[in-house]
Amino acid sequence: MSSDELNKSNQNNQIFDRCSHSTSNISQDENTTGQKNKIFSRCSESPIDINVINTQQIQLPELKWMNYDKCPERMELTNSGETLILLPDWNEETPYVQGGPFEEDYIFSRIHFHWGQSVNGSEHTVDGVRMPLEMHAIHFKKEYLKMKLAKEYDDGMLIMVYFLELKSNHNPILDRLLSKLSHIQHADTKLFIEPFPIDDLLKPFLSDYYMYYGSIVTSEPTPVHWLVARQVIALSPEQLKLFHQLRKPNDVTIYDNARKANPFTNQLIYHVNPTHRFTNSTLSPIPVLCKKQFE
Ligand SMILES: [Zn+2]
Repeated sequence: MSSDELNKSNQNNQIFDRCSHSTSNISQDENTTGQKNKIFSRCSESPIDINVINTQQIQLPELKWMNYDKCPERMELTNSGETLILLPDWNEETPYVQGGPFEEDYIFSRIHFHWGQSVNGSEHTVDGVRMPLEMHAIHFKKEYLKMKLAKEYDDGMLIMVYFLELKSNHNPILDRLLSKLSHIQHADTKLFIEPFPIDDLLKPFLSDYYMYYGSIVTSEPTPVHWLVARQVIALSPEQLKLFHQLRKPNDVTIYDNARKANPFTNQLIYHVNPTHRFTNSTLSPIPVLCKKQFE
């Protein structure tokens, strides 16, 4: 059976199997027809390293990105004391994603960022390489109505991961946020900014993304569907430095809010709708020129 046929027949309904939270060692099923039942049968704590050559290629229906081009009514920027949060608010037409591995809609909630003291600020790594910055677009399953409730379910949360890499030119979209950071240096401060469609910042992807089932740990582990975009977003070294304006509740600079990738090596990671077989990552290390500019 080809991967296309598998996709059409019955893959979707079980692709995100429940996270067992058990220590039982459910082995990866290499058989394609049996694959659907095992794809997300095991979860581990995130973030993880994505070892490109060990990813499993898979064909899924296209993700449908709905309303990401709609301008929100309001847009709030917050220094939580841990990260920078972008919280748009649509009276109607809140963005949501459907299709791909999902049977139901996942509603967009917010974006936050992870950075480091230098150019190694991403949480996930690709072939062991950390990127300067990582952006998380938080979504929750529509049927649970609110994120707080969605966190109580194994299939409640979806996080889209975008890596940011250093380029010599400013990213003008990021400037809309970063130019305001001097007003929210202190923890638990916020302000409204000029709203813009969220797809100005995060680019919808249909192919060439990674997918795995992991978790986040806040007060307790929460299972999360992770989709990791291969397409990176650019920012300049000057823009990266601006994140260090933000401070914690004790007024110390937030130099580093990125967790280190889990060295768990057997995580099942999918490369969805590959345009070609990548044998190594094109999420390449930072260009030397830009790296020097930052340091
Ligand atoms: Zn995060």
